[in-house]
Parts: sequence; structure tokens; C-alpha cells
Amino acid sequence: MSADPTTPGPAPEHVDVLVIGAGLSGLGAAAQLREHHPGRSLAVLEARDVSGGTWDLFRYPGIRSDSDMFTFGYRWRPWVGDTALADGASILDYVRTVARERGVDRLVRYGHRVVSADWDSASARWRVRVDRGGEELTLTAGFVHCCSGYYDYESGHTPELPGIERYDGEVVHPQHWPEDLDHAGKRVVVIGSGATAITLVPALAADAKHVTMLQRSPTYVLSRPGRDPVAKVLDRLPARLAFPVVRWKNILQAVAFYQVARRRPGVVKRLIRSGVAAQLPPEVDVDTHFRPSYDPWDQRLCFVPDGDLFRAIRSGGASVVTDTIDTFTERGIRLASGQELEADVVVTATGLRLLPFGGIALSVDGEPVTLSETMAYKALMLSGVPNFVYTIGYTNASWTLKADLVSEYVARLLRHLDERGARSVVPVREPGVGERPFMDFQSGYVLRALDRLPRQGDRAPWMLKQNYLTDVRTIRRDRIDDGVLRFT
Ligand SMILES: Cc1cc2nc3c(=O)[nH]c(=O)nc-3n(C[C@H](O)[C@H](O)[C@H](O)COP(=O)(O)OP(=O)(O)OC[C@H]3O[C@@H](n4cnc5c(N)ncnc54)[C@H](O)[C@@H]3O)c2cc1C
Repeated sequence: MSADPTTPGPAPEHVDVLVIGAGLSGLGAAAQLREHHPGRSLAVLEARDVSGGTWDLFRYPGIRSDSDMFTFGYRWRPWVGDTALADGASILDYVRTVARERGVDRLVRYGHRVVSADWDSASARWRVRVDRGGEELTLTAGFVHCCSGYYDYESGHTPELPGIERYDGEVVHPQHWPEDLDHAGKRVVVIGSGATAITLVPALAADAKHVTMLQRSPTYVLSRPGRDPVAKVLDRLPARLAFPVVRWKNILQAVAFYQVARRRPGVVKRLIRSGVAAQLPPEVDVDTHFRPSYDPWDQRLCFVPDGDLFRAIRSGGASVVTDTIDTFTERGIRLASGQELEADVVVTATGLRLLPFGGIALSVDGEPVTLSETMAYKALMLSGVPNFVYTIGYTNASWTLKADLVSEYVARLLRHLDERGARSVVPVREPGVGERPFMDFQSGYVLRALDRLPRQGDRAPWMLKQNYLTDVRTIRRDRIDDGVLRFT
């Protein structure tokens, strides 16, 4: 479909701001831009044929948030009711309803996968190449806000599974849950112990003959109320009054818990352990199955609503095995200990494949950007990459807390460009700032990708704090013109 490069074609379409991705972040960003910059032209490019991102893609039984919805919902659009951990369908409905209310659903161009973006300093524009169902399009944009999530939509992470070809049962990955999979009355083994495995086990146990969660090593699991007690009490107040109270209560609670966990890990470990032990029958060995070797928040903690995982174990519908796989057999899995787990269905809840910036090849004046050579500025821009902001949410709190701050920042930054009469802004790396890995986080999907990610610095504004209260200051309040950003 490529045109003759020697004949000048029509000029590509230009938009002032291009948002990439129509998930929770992209739709929220577009809504903020509509509100604060109604005069700017705006388009949202979405690779898939539908909006909602994560909350449309994942369809496994029990899919839900493990953040509370008062902080996972947008700051500017209350989450109504007292449901704290909501199911996937309700989250998808919330995101799409908000997009409709704000009129940004009409700005989304579906089936548009951004392949590359090249910044041209002379025209102060991004030249963006898009794959639309095999056809190549180009458009230009003054500013790009990348909201492409953090993982590969095509496939999840599956480690090598020895002997898998011999296995006669069904193998599914939660990222591609077959609509017609019937697990009722069957023996299911869920491999993994992350948020997905922990969500799946009680949901499957409701109909399965038995569900075994097979983990190599344990994860911290905490029970929290599925309904927010304070939201329940404030139920009679209008949402605009009750919502900020519940939201701030949850923000402060989460920040405090994280800080205590990092400073006094021993205390928090003991508290978590006793909470788990109290909910399990005495024959379950808490230390083998629920006491990780790492400290709380070295990896993401898993929250279960009203202890549903523990309830499933108590009822006998589910159990946990901590061991490694020796080999798959025709009928199931043989473990290193010699134990055999018979299974009709095996679910590989073994994680995601991290994909920075939606796999988009970035370049500046034709020079490819090597992400690992860039440094993240306020965890929302990249050194040396002009007019480009990205949203990657927190790992220790609700994603949306950060996404909202980033969208606000984009609005401020564009206003600042207007006020200065500047057309471009770029963070310029400072000499003497030490390099650190992008994330101080031990989860497998992060460790597997660290060498493909930008670096963070050892001081502000290059350091990623993972702390909403600090970010409220540095992203919402601090001066835009901080001497690190260069305006042209
Ligand atoms: C199962 C699961 C549960 C989760 N639960 C929580 C939770 O409880 N709390 C929490 O804080 N976080 C949670 N997360 C993290 C979650 O992904 C985010 O909270 C949030 O949904 C991310 O929204 P997003 O819009 O940034 O990204 P996504 O939801 O991933 O959406 C990104 C969009 O960008 C599109 N896109 C990607 N690349 C391109 C491209 N090159 N061109 C065009 N479009 C592109 C995608 O198709 C997609 O629609 C969960 C993640 C998963 C996988």
C-alpha cells in the first residue's frame, strides 16, 4: 500500500495533541484535555476495536480490581456506592460511561496501532506512523501523550513447561480465556501465585471439582473488605461530598501502610502472617504457603475481598501446593517432590510480558531513541524526547492516582507552552545524576524487562518516588519551569 515516495502526496492530517491508547488512562487523559484545552484538536488512537484496555481484554472468571475503586476511579468523577473491589465488568462500564459523558468516546479511532513516532525539530511536530488493519497511515501531532499501558496485549508470559506436549487436558492463559471453557465439575490446577491466580482460585472453586493453586514460592495475601465501611456509613450523602472523604481515607491508609511496611518489615510480616493464619484451617502450613522470603512491597501485595481465597481453602474446594514442576504427564503435573497433581484444566497464571510504550519505535530527528539510554523525568517524560509524556501508574497504589496527576500535568505543561510562546519542551539530562533501575520492584515481569526500560535518577526530578503525596507536590504544584525542562 506504500505510495510512490517521489510524488508528494497530500499533507498528513495534523492534530495538536495525540493520545495513544483508549484504556482507563487514555480516556481519562482525553477527558482532561477536553476540559482544560477545548481549543486544541485532539485524537485518540487505539490499536484494538474496543475501548477499556485491560478491563476489556481480561475475561477470566472472577476478574476484579485489587485496588479500591475510590482511588482506582478518576479523582474528578466519583465512583458511586460502597463497593471497594469491583468486578471487571463494572470497571469497564465505569470507564466507558465516563468517556461517553465527557464526549471523548467520539474522539477514539479504533483499529489504529501506532507503530513509530519520529520527532521533527524543524517543524516541532511528531510524525506518527499507524497500522490500520495492514494499511499504513501517517499523521502529525504537536504533542503525544502515550497511554499504552505496560504489557504486551498479544501474549502473556509463559515459562518453559517441561513435557507440556504430553498433557491431554486443556491449557489456558488468563490473558486469552476461552469463552466456552467449562470448568464445572473438573479438576483445575492454577499455576502461579500473583494477583491473577489469587483471583481465579476462589472464582473457579465455586463450580470446579477442586482447584489447586500450584506456586513455586508464596506471595503476601491480605484480606480487605469488599465493601468500604466508611463509604457504607456515608451512603446517604451526595457522592460529591462522600467520595473525597473515602478517597482520601484510602489514599492515606495505603501510603501509611506502605511506609510502615518498608520501614518496619518485620512487624508487618508478623501482622500479615497472623491475619492469614486466623483464616486458615490448622492443617494448612502457613509458613510454607503464605510466608514469602522477600519483604512486603518488594513485590505487589495481593488483596482478596473478604478473605474469599481463604474461604475457598476452608471449604475444601481449593488447596495450595508449593513445589516446582518436574514434568507434565498425560494426566496432569508431576512435581519435584514426586507428588502428582491430576488435572483436566491447567491455567498458566504466570504473568505478563512487559511492553514499554506499546512497542512504539521512538526517534528524534531520525535518530532512534534507545530507552535504556534515557532517564525518566518525574516518571512521566523521557530525557531528550520532546513533547512526549507517558502514563505508567503506581505499583504500590492505584494506577489512576498517578494517571490523573499525569493528565493534569499535561494540561499545565500545554498552558505553560502557550504562555511562553514556546512550541516544544524537553527534559535535559543533568550531569552528575546517578542512574538507577527504572523500578525498585522485584516482580518477575519487571525484572525480565529492566534492561529495556529507561533509567531513573538518584534525585528529584529524576527519581521515581511511588508516593502519591510527594507526587501531588512535584507533579501538581511545583513550577513547570524548573531549570531541567528546556523550552524552544
Ligand atoms: C488483570 C489485571 C488487573 C489489574 N488490576 C489492577 C488494580 O486493581 N489496580 C491497579 O491500580 N491496577 C491494576 N492493573 C493494572 C492496570 O493495567 C491499570 O490499572 C489500568 O487498567 C491501566 O490502564 P491504561 O489505560 O494505562 O492501560 P491499558 O488498560 O493496558 O490500556 C492501554 C490501551 O492502549 C492500547 N495500545 C497499546 N499499544 C498501542 C499502540 N501501539 N497503538 C495504539 N494503541 C495501543 C491498548 O490496546 C489498550 O487499549 C491490573 C492489570 C491487570 C492486567
